[in-house]
Amino acid sequence: MPLCFPYVRFSSQKQADGNSDVRQSERIESFVSKHNLTVDTRLEDHGISSFRGANAKKGQLSVFLQRVRDGEIPNGSYLLIENWDRLSRQVLDASIEIFSDLIRSGIKIAVLDEDTVYDDLTSNSFIRAIVQFERAHSESLRKSDMSKASWRAKHKAMAEGAIATKKSPQWLVVKDGAWCKLDDICLHIETMFSLAQTYGVAETGRRLNAQFGTSYKTHQIQYLLRNRRLLGEHSPVEFSKEHGKNVPTGQVVEHYYPLVIPPATFEEVQTILKSRKPFSGRQDATNLNIFRNLLVCAECGGSTRFMLRSGKEFYYCTASMTGGCVDDQIRSIRGEFLRRVLFKFEHWTAIRDYIAAGSDVLKALKKEETVAVAKLTRLEVRADGLKKKHAAEDDEDKAETYVSLLTETRKAIATAKADIHRIKQELASLDGAFALTDSNADSFESMLTSDSEQARTDRQRLNRYLRGIFLKLELHFPTRKLETQPIPALANRISPVVAYVPQPKDKRTGDDYGHHTWISKDKQVLIIKSIKARLRRAGMSSPTFYLVKPIYEDVVFSLLPKKKPHKNHKSIEMPEELKSERLVWQSPDPFLK
Ligand SMILES: [Zn+2]
Repeated sequence: MPLCFPYVRFSSQKQADGNSDVRQSERIESFVSKHNLTVDTRLEDHGISSFRGANAKKGQLSVFLQRVRDGEIPNGSYLLIENWDRLSRQVLDASIEIFSDLIRSGIKIAVLDEDTVYDDLTSNSFIRAIVQFERAHSESLRKSDMSKASWRAKHKAMAEGAIATKKSPQWLVVKDGAWCKLDDICLHIETMFSLAQTYGVAETGRRLNAQFGTSYKTHQIQYLLRNRRLLGEHSPVEFSKEHGKNVPTGQVVEHYYPLVIPPATFEEVQTILKSRKPFSGRQDATNLNIFRNLLVCAECGGSTRFMLRSGKEFYYCTASMTGGCVDDQIRSIRGEFLRRVLFKFEHWTAIRDYIAAGSDVLKALKKEETVAVAKLTRLEVRADGLKKKHAAEDDEDKAETYVSLLTETRKAIATAKADIHRIKQELASLDGAFALTDSNADSFESMLTSDSEQARTDRQRLNRYLRGIFLKLELHFPTRKLETQPIPALANRISPVVAYVPQPKDKRTGDDYGHHTWISKDKQVLIIKSIKARLRRAGMSSPTFYLVKPIYEDVVFSLLPKKKPHKNHKSIEMPEELKSERLVWQSPDPFLK
């Protein structure tokens, strides 16, 4: 009768306590009697994991392997294992080596789970072995991820208020085992957020540093304005072998740090940051342009530019400034009148309808938020339950089922969190808009025109609210017809508002303000030539379109107001990209005056 060596392994106390031993023994007995074998030695490894091959290096299995190599085990003997995991969960190479060593030495490997005996190295059994080892190993990997017990304990402790991170954010210190806010830095950050609601990032930095004598750099401000730790959130990182560095675990521990910025303010600033085009340059700090990123030229479909010149506001079709609208005429309109037109009584009623319709969208969003939050709570409860069940489960198959259920649930939790985040952001952009419903047209007048800090912030808000309602506002410059185009969600609820922008006559000349000096194609060519010549003299051998364009636009603007440029008005603002080249640009050529 052939000899057999049943191999029983328990990797942890939990498995030993359970019925794993009994189950393995029963299977061994039935196999032994079925194949009429003699049990030589029962190999038992307790508390040794096969994951890193410990059982093949120490313990009974390693003793057995050595005896096989030494020729002490007779050919045709059986090694009985419950399943592949028992033999090895090591990386494939090592597993295959153990497998083929045994087979070559004349040992038959019986896998009880499969009721299969492997006794040759034909491609069939070899491939099958590879597949099984691969599966065993990846499963252990998954379990190893799952059982990063220290991490889970840490996570739990953090959620319960323990300080488990080594580095403190710059505005916090640890005192007596608790976070403590640094008042001065927190004040800087709060001020930063309130400035950022009105100004661009660079301007926020200038004002902040002027106020506190600090030296925050733009990138630091950008970093802080997006830093969710200010909301109390902590996103733990974990070392990833794959990436060779720390990567976020995707988990978020809420209320870990003390709250510095209220969530509503934080989300509002995120919306503002997102809506700004990068490198759009210095923003008009007065925020008089309440139609920023909204107003387009109805003729060419292009963007418009808001300009403050000699205390007067103008909107230009950007393309028309370089002769690129539908013809080479410059299109402009006085900003003051355009700014107020939507808030005139007759239009304001229509706008209010928009806002009312928008508030339905808002309600729907709020409902969606409630549902999403409830769903998240449910999923989290479920995940907790699964975790407990998994910890208490002795049956490996069942335990594995819990693992895969838990993985699924975690994925669903991540999706739900992303949903809530999106809804919150949409809410932030719309929410305040409907505070407008309570206002009347009159109260807008001072908000639209005042230069107070509050009015500036309100105008910035108004711009955002309008962008929450309208996709764009189309202005037909020649007829001064303004037509609104609502966002798709509101499109079918309400018809567009059509308004005509009033345009008083110029007192001195009787001309319409909108009709400015028209620069002929010939003159444009001359201007461009002169700019190129200047750039060449300044050492730029072949000035590109991108170098010429901003200077050209500035020159054109200096020509646009009705009033002739003053004799001493010699300098125009240098475009940023040219400043760095240390070019000196003093004044347009005399013929331009
Ligand atoms: Zn145009």
